[in-house]
This record gives sequence, structure tokens and C-alpha cells, in this order.
Amino acid sequence: MKPSMVLSRVRFLNGEIVDIAMENGRITGLHEPGTVSGTQTINGEGLYVSSGWIDMHVHAFPAFDPYGDEIDAIGIQGGCTTIVDAGSCGADRIHELAASRKQSHTRLFAFLNISRIGLERTDELSQLHWIDETAVMQALENHADFIIGLKARISSSVVGENGITPLRRAIQFAEDTGLPIMTHIGSAPPLIEEIMPLLRSRDMVTHYLNGKANNLFDEKGLPKSVLTDAIERGVKLDVGHGTASFSFETAQQAKDAGISLHTISTDIYRGNRLNGPVYNMANVLTKFLTLGYTLTEVIEAVTTAPAAWLDRPELGRIQVGDAANLTLFSIEPRPSRLIDSEGRTYTSTHTIQAEGVILNDQYFTCPIRA
Ligand SMILES: [Zn+2]
Repeated sequence: MKPSMVLSRVRFLNGEIVDIAMENGRITGLHEPGTVSGTQTINGEGLYVSSGWIDMHVHAFPAFDPYGDEIDAIGIQGGCTTIVDAGSCGADRIHELAASRKQSHTRLFAFLNISRIGLERTDELSQLHWIDETAVMQALENHADFIIGLKARISSSVVGENGITPLRRAIQFAEDTGLPIMTHIGSAPPLIEEIMPLLRSRDMVTHYLNGKANNLFDEKGLPKSVLTDAIERGVKLDVGHGTASFSFETAQQAKDAGISLHTISTDIYRGNRLNGPVYNMANVLTKFLTLGYTLTEVIEAVTTAPAAWLDRPELGRIQVGDAANLTLFSIEPRPSRLIDSEGRTYTSTHTIQAEGVILNDQYFTCPIRA
């Protein structure tokens, strides 16, 4: 019997070329290239395949304009089968974000903002009464399958006069619930030297390559000890490119210091998708290829690494019996003009382009051009 879907002649990162057969949304076989056909056969010749890309930091709650976006516009249309909303919503509106999954194809998880108002205002931690323990605990109970961690944005414009206190509250909630936290870093106060020592194994720092004064590298461009100590403790680093949080100079410093990639994420929302400097995941991945990371390192940072962090390893593998969750992409020998958050530009020699995804037993082409 013919499989319902076959992805033919696609290339794994290790160079191996295969046919992937699927039935009812599950992978049923990996075969020699060109040997099977399905009711639907997708020609993958010349394309790479990986498990579906995972973006650990997006804003998928369109009501918070411009700091939100449509789920599929930042998900499957750009090659990401799984996206994680990074604290757009707090306890007041997380149920709306959870419900919005019904209207979209992309798999969505969320960090719960410890501020009940979420990004309704961008100074959401400037009043401590917005950090409401009862509301946080109720939201976690109601959405245990959806909320994968807690978000606390710890920079001056967000916390106002409250300094490190909101982060201490976040860690207390995390200790009480067993959830990890994602901390955003940016301008002081609080100082990065106050923030980093509080983070625990598996907690995640987003925006670690920002080029602001209060960042993780010293004036010589070397990693500060609070960074190397945190890595040693098992704290994870997330890119969270965003409008203001990715500097080529800082990224080069991290590369030169031998700091490995963990997760590459976009911090995408409507504003920085349409006007840059983020545009889409493929564009951000091309930046890391241009910095000199290997294709395998770059793709692992949106597949196996986030899947392991999420404790959902099946999302990061291609295996017979698993649900088919795949991203097809190409590496085109054409230059891209890449812009960082400081307005500095690089021109790449190659461009990573998302071509299509397979998710929920369906094939979707990616209309977004990198
Ligand atoms: Zn963000």
C-alpha cells in the first residue's frame, strides 16, 4: 500500500539523502532516495530536512500591537513548527492566548509573564502589586499543558524603581512550582552582576548577545565572570534577537570566547518582522552561519537544543513511529544583507531559506522569503 505522504530525496544535515514515508501524520519509514512514492509526494531534491524548527522567543498575541503577531505568520510560514510565546501574557489574558491555538496550525507554548498584565504595558514589573502570586498559581493550574516556564523582563524600563525584586519573586515562584524561568536582560538597573548569580540550572537568559552597556561582556570584549559562572551552573543562553537585542559585535565576542550556541530565537513580532531587523527565523539563522557557526550548530539551536530544554525530545528528532514534524530548507548561494539591532550591516555569501513544513499530517509551503 502507498503511504499517504512521501518526502522524496531530502538531505539530512549529515549529508545522507532519503525518502521519508508518512501515514496519518506519523513517520513510517526512511528509505533509499527515489524508491517510494505516496498518495502525495513532495519533491525534496536539493533541500535539507530537519525536525521542525522551534523558536523559543516570539510574541504571538496580536492584541498587543505592535508587540504581538499572528501565530502562523511567525510560525509555519517562516519554517517554525513550534513557537514559544515569551511572556506576552500574564495571568489576566493567558487563557486568550491558549485559546488562540485553535485558530492556527503552528504548535504554541508559552512562558507566563509573572506580571498579571503581561505586555499590556511595557513597564509591566514597575508596580509590585501586578505580581500576584494567587493569579500566577491559578494560571499555571489552568494551563499546565501550555505554560512551560515563567518570564521576567529584568531591565530598567520594565522594573522601574523595583530593581532586582521582581526577579527574586520570579525565582520564588519557580522554586515553588518546579518551572524554569526565562529572564530578559537589558539596560541597568539592575546590574547584570546582580541578575546572573540568581539564575539556576536550566533557567534561561534571553538577549544574551545584546550590545547595550549592561551586557555580558567587558570593555575588552571578554565574557564577564557572571556569564562564565552561569554557564558552568547550567544556565542556558537564548538569542532573542528582537528590535534592540542582537549585536554583531557582541555575537563575535561570544564566538571568539568559544561560547557555544544553545537556542537561537527571534523575539519576533509584527513591527520587527515587517520592518526588520528580525524579518524571520531563516534570516536570523543566516546571521549565525555568517558569524562562522557550522550549519549543524545553527540548526541544532532551533531543533534538538530547544526540544531537550522543553523536555520534549521527540520534537527534535526524525524517527520512525514519531509524529512527522519537519522543516524543509535550502542554502542558496546568494547574498543577503543582514542588519543587527545597532544598524550595522553584514552581507552573507549564502542564505538559509525555509521552503516548507510538515505538521499535523499536512504539508505547508513557506511563503516568506529570507
Ligand atoms: Zn520578547
